[in-house]
This record gives sequence, C-alpha cells and structure tokens, in this order.
Amino acid sequence: MRADRLAVTAALAELDAASLRRRRRVIEACEPAGAGTRARVDGRTVRVFCSNDYLGLARHADLTAAMHAASAEFGAGSGAAHLVAGHSRPHHELEEQLAAFTGRERTLLFSTGYMANLGVLAAFAGRNETVLEDRLNHASLIDGARLAGARLLRYAHADAAAAALALEPISDCTVIATDGLFSMDGDVAPLRELAALAARRGAWLLVDDAHGLGVLGASGRGSLELAGLDAAAAPLLVGTLGKALGCFGAFVAGDRDVVELLLQRARTYIYTTALPPGIAAAASAALGLAQRESWRREKLHALIARFRSGAASLGLPLMDSASPIQPLLAHDAARALRLSEALFAAGFWVSAIRTPTVPPGSARLRLTLSAAHSEADIDAVLQALDDAWRHERKP
Ligand SMILES: *Cc1c(COP(=O)(O)O)cnc(C)c1O
Repeated sequence: MRADRLAVTAALAELDAASLRRRRRVIEACEPAGAGTRARVDGRTVRVFCSNDYLGLARHADLTAAMHAASAEFGAGSGAAHLVAGHSRPHHELEEQLAAFTGRERTLLFSTGYMANLGVLAAFAGRNETVLEDRLNHASLIDGARLAGARLLRYAHADAAAAALALEPISDCTVIATDGLFSMDGDVAPLRELAALAARRGAWLLVDDAHGLGVLGASGRGSLELAGLDAAAAPLLVGTLGKALGCFGAFVAGDRDVVELLLQRARTYIYTTALPPGIAAAASAALGLAQRESWRREKLHALIARFRSGAASLGLPLMDSASPIQPLLAHDAARALRLSEALFAAGFWVSAIRTPTVPPGSARLRLTLSAAHSEADIDAVLQALDDAWRHERKP
C-alpha cells in the first residue's frame, strides 16, 4: 500500500462495499453481574449467543476468587518470560493439572492459542518440509506453517481420503495439522483416519482442540476422547484456556521430551512475558469445575439438541454440527449482516461470519451455545431466528 491516506480510505471503502467491514460492539455491563448470557451492549440489553464460554465458567466466583488470591500473592503481571523469572507456582501447578487431564506426560503454557500454534509448528516443521492441513483450519495453524517456512499443502475439509491422496507424491511431510472441532462449522475432524495416515507416513499429528476441550467426549477431554484416540495417536495436542475454561491462554501437551524440545525451541514461548499468575490460578479452578461438574456438559448437550430440533422444525439452514457451534448458512455477506442486525435489534447478539474467516459464498450466522443459557433462551432465539429468516424471504 502506498504511504498515502487516500490509499487507506480506498481500502476501507472497498470493505464497506463488499459488506466486509468488521466492527466491535462495546459490552458496557453484564446483567446481572456474574451471570454471563445477558449483557448491556451499545445501549441495549441482549442475550449473548456468540461467546466461547461454553461451560458458563468465565464469571464463576471460584475463578475470580482464585485470580484475586494469586494476584495478591504473585502480582498482577508475571514480571518476565517463563525462562527468566516469570514462571510461578500457579503456572507450574496448572501445567501439571493439564497434563493429568489430557493424559500426557507434560504440558507447556503459552500466552495464547495463536502463539502456541506458531510455536509448535515452527519447532516441529522444518524449513522447506511439507505441512499438510485441512482447508478450514484455524488461521493460526496456517500462519504457523508459513512462519516455519514450510511448504503448506491443504486438503478438502474433513476429507481424510483427500489428505492421503495429497501426500502420495510427497516424501517430506513432517506435520499433519487439524482443528479437532472446527471453529466456524462446528464439525469434527476425521481424527482416526488422520492418525493412521500420520503413523503410516511418519509425520506428527498436531490436533488443535481449542473448541473441543471441556465440551466433547464423555469426560470433556475433547475430540480425541470422542474419537477414542490416545496420546500415541496424536502426539501434539494444543488446547486453549480462553474458551470452555473461561480464562485466557493456551497450552501444548505431549510426552516429556517433545515438550522439552518445544520449551527449548518455540520462539513464541521464549520471547514473551508469561501469562499473569492470576489467570493461571483461575484456569486451575476452571479445570477442576469442568471435571467435577459434569452437569455443565450434560446441560450444554441437551440445549444443543433442543436448538437443533427446533431449528430443523422451523426449516432453518442448519449445518451438520453436534457441537455448541451452530452455524446457519446465509451464503451472502450482506444477507448475513442484515440477519445479524435484525437479531440484535430483537435482543439477540449473534455474529455474522464472513470471508476471509470462511470461504466466499459461505457467509453465515454463527450461534454459540453455553451451559449458562436456559431452555427459555434457546426457545427465544429460535423464535427470533424464525422471524428474521421469514423477513429475509419476503420479496
Ligand atoms: C480460538 C482458537 C485459537 C486461538 O486461541 P487464542 O487463545 O484465542 O489465541 C486457535 N485455534 C483454534 C482452533 C481456535 O478456535
């Protein structure tokens, strides 16, 4: 871009013309404080259907109490990178708890999932080696392969046969990377087939289960538990703390030496300030609740079933998702935006997802459900969706 204001104005005008300009809404208050599914936003009270707080833990009093206690003891900030003087007891305990939860020997905390993916790909994919990825992988997995200087090869979404075919002429594939539960479609990766392919080809299988952890599987251990796969089948697991666990941050889980090598090599681990200790303490509390209070997961799945059967009977364009991520296809970006605005005016905050987050022509409304929602919330949003869709259908 030219260093010129007009070029910037023109670029913004282009986004407007394509209905692709994004904007933020300001959450002024949570109503009632501590609940989490209603918020005062841009001067209006709305029910929130676009948060990743799947288990309803983000505002739980145990988390905020743990955060306050650890901050009072260790400070608001960690003060340094983990390898300098930033790695405190709350971090270390959380790593051990996450290792036990994921059934791995060891885990390593990262400040965000984005950084975890950049770090793990740069550590395990060499320059000019091939990384094979699902076409709909999260942006951080794509960027990670690019930053590693690897050759990025992509296969059709969730198509393990296409993945195997793509690898046939390739001899230097070192990492196969996939989302566990896909963030924009709500479906799961064919993990058993990908694990077999990775084993056959001597590649690492990297599973990013940011959305699946805490939500999928009989005990909430995520998409690998759902697929019945152990640590040997998927030796690199990325999880985040900012979604079902309601906090912030991320981790990579693996065997002892894998994690040690990551600690030695991952630049996004080494050259950045450690997470605030209070966040680590809150995540520990969240992990305990996610394991002890299985009713959260059960309630969430009951709400998902209620939403899907209601939406199906209303003839809404559901996608094939059994997860808390429930997209409704609008195809056109302007239409998705109109639907989202209509819902907001009716008191429901549902985001419109457009390109480049999803491929062109597949713009959608993306609802996310939470254990903090009630059955009445689900029924109300279905009614509002029906109204909005009916209005769109009018000539
Ligand atoms: C949200 C997400 C990330 C990024 O995690 P952050 O902690 O928010 O940076 C990475 N991968 C997937 C699949 C995600 O959904």
